[in-house]
Amino acid sequence: MKAVLDHVGIAVEDIDQALAFYRDALGLEVEAPEDVVSQRVRAHFIPAGQAALELLEATASDSAIARYVAKRGPGIHHVTLRVEDLDAALAQLKARGIRLVDTEPRPGAEGARVAFIHPSAAHGVLVELKQPASTGPTLSAKRIALGDMQLTALHDGPFRLDGGAMFGVVPRVLWEKKTPPDDRNRIQLAMRPLLVEADWGRMIVDCGAGDKMNAKERDIYALDPALDRALAEVGLGADAVDFALATHLHFDHFGGATSLASGSLAPRFRRARYLIRAAEWEDATHPHERNRASYLPQDFVPLRDADVVTFHEGDEVIKPGVRVVRTGGHTGQHQIVFLESGGKTAVFVADLIPTTAHVQDAWIMGYDLFPVETLMFKKQFIAEAIARQHLIFFEHDPHVAAGYIREQDGKRFVEQVL
Ligand SMILES: [Zn+2]
Ligand SMILES: [Zn+2]
Repeated sequence: MKAVLDHVGIAVEDIDQALAFYRDALGLEVEAPEDVVSQRVRAHFIPAGQAALELLEATASDSAIARYVAKRGPGIHHVTLRVEDLDAALAQLKARGIRLVDTEPRPGAEGARVAFIHPSAAHGVLVELKQPASTGPTLSAKRIALGDMQLTALHDGPFRLDGGAMFGVVPRVLWEKKTPPDDRNRIQLAMRPLLVEADWGRMIVDCGAGDKMNAKERDIYALDPALDRALAEVGLGADAVDFALATHLHFDHFGGATSLASGSLAPRFRRARYLIRAAEWEDATHPHERNRASYLPQDFVPLRDADVVTFHEGDEVIKPGVRVVRTGGHTGQHQIVFLESGGKTAVFVADLIPTTAHVQDAWIMGYDLFPVETLMFKKQFIAEAIARQHLIFFEHDPHVAAGYIREQDGKRFVEQVL
């Protein structure tokens, strides 16, 4: 079990005297009090770094806090540990015969779920376990017409990566305002493969991380594979996909190309041809120390073994209205996908501009192998995207699937469309 100190609860007898010490003498900032009516208690939170102190004041004489103070005097009442999976934590404790106050989670403040461990089991301390309300975004498939094509921003669930790595040389004080990191310094992202439907068939561009990660890896990246659900939202299954096109072969983009669902590694879209840039394949199958963690052979080698890959050599029209252009930068052969129909253009920009926070020219990921190449391509691309009003699909943005990049009074921003 992984646990983080959330707060220490302190039972007080006289709140004015307690505030005179914690607020006035120590000079700590005390938040506005919150009444927990069911417990007949008023809580005053005092943030202290990643954790907090919680002054607990009884609001009725039959409150548990009043009884505690009457019996033992004021003092530390409980310690709260934050866990990611409360059900798993309780199961683990039950299996070891640990005495619990709550054998099942109960609702706590702010949508959290909590359970108390009996003090007799915890060496005289009342320990509360708390699973905060999920802060992950609710993702859904979002559809828009582009001329004769239908474009659907699918999703393979939320995803988290290190905030520093996502913003490269941008100082944390700047990026944390836009995307606050969690207590493991990760920021909330999403994976949004794009479904293109046209008279020549259905193509999925990238396909998320898939379902092959073990529990530990899923925890590291906060994965909750969802592509099948997203396809079902638009009435489709994996077998409806005719082509799967890769922007590059990183696990968060093409891990979903293969699956263990049939018991052994196999192509996930059983009817599909997989379209991969030959030089990217070459790089992915010859990794070095700097990119080895992102290229997982089980994501793409089984495709070649099943003889379902069609390689393309350079920038070309893959299908009518679907054109790939190499950006380099992120990986040597990273490519983006232009979709053109009815005089309109949409672009799936993959890791060139992973989120709307990355529309500033210099906001470039630390993951990029060749950041200056990213910068050169990106500057020209964004200037053109603004001038020509290209609709941009952001693959990793947790809230905005697609929008127009705008510039006004020297400020650049994204006008959300999907
Ligand atoms: Zn990538
Ligand atoms: Zn990525």
